Amino acid sequence: MRRYAGYIFDMDGVLYRGSEPVPGAAEAIERLKRKGRRIVFVSNNSTLSREDYAEKIQEMGLPIEERELIPATYATARYVAERYGGRRVYAVGALGLMKELLRAGIRLTQQPAKAEVLVTGSDPDISYQKLSNATAMLLRGCPWVSTNADKLYPSEKGILPGTGAVVGALQYITGREPVVIGKPSKPIMEQALEVLGVPKEECLMVGDIIESDVLAGRNVGVDTALVLTGVTRREDVEASQVKPDYVIESIAELEV
Ligand SMILES: [Mg+2]
Repeated sequence: MRRYAGYIFDMDGVLYRGSEPVPGAAEAIERLKRKGRRIVFVSNNSTLSREDYAEKIQEMGLPIEERELIPATYATARYVAERYGGRRVYAVGALGLMKELLRAGIRLTQQPAKAEVLVTGSDPDISYQKLSNATAMLLRGCPWVSTNADKLYPSEKGILPGTGAVVGALQYITGREPVVIGKPSKPIMEQALEVLGVPKEECLMVGDIIESDVLAGRNVGVDTALVLTGVTRREDVEASQVKPDYVIESIAELEV
């Protein structure tokens, strides 16, 4: 494997599984940092703020700072602030998303009739009322930004409905499509590349899911490595049309 100047890491399935760190992950990150490599971490998580996420990661003993994290909550807030700063936003999502939107200086409103932009993420309290509010906004043509569009959310409690529970319902009802911020879409990756500040030919995307991480890397033109510590098995790689540039057992094998 080539050495790269910048590394973009997916988190769940690469650094940890549930609340268990992957053996050797902390050491691998420290090695990269010692060598002066640029590193950033991206996640489609749409329920935790960057601060909440940093706390969770640090509790596992991983040497990662809050400023190195780009969860979809944070990436979405940045995107909305840049594109729609000053506009009134109605958001369907969890507390972590609301926190990031407020932190980015976005004007949140509880009155969908007056809102100009719809933001969606996973919402443990999704309701018929919220879907009705969002539907009305989409039918009158408001821009729609979503943290991600993942159908499923593999958790310690088993496989749960992902942000797709909200996004899929609204797409089906209204025929509209959101701008998706998370992987495999470009916006979260473009933010990661901006933070790294190195040419993309010099960057490697490391993840555990082909349709999400490898495709995300491919979409912005960076090399990709698939690790087998998450949901993908070696047989899955053989069966897949999309091939990563490298397949490694674990982040611990990453050469720096
Ligand atoms: Mg993952």
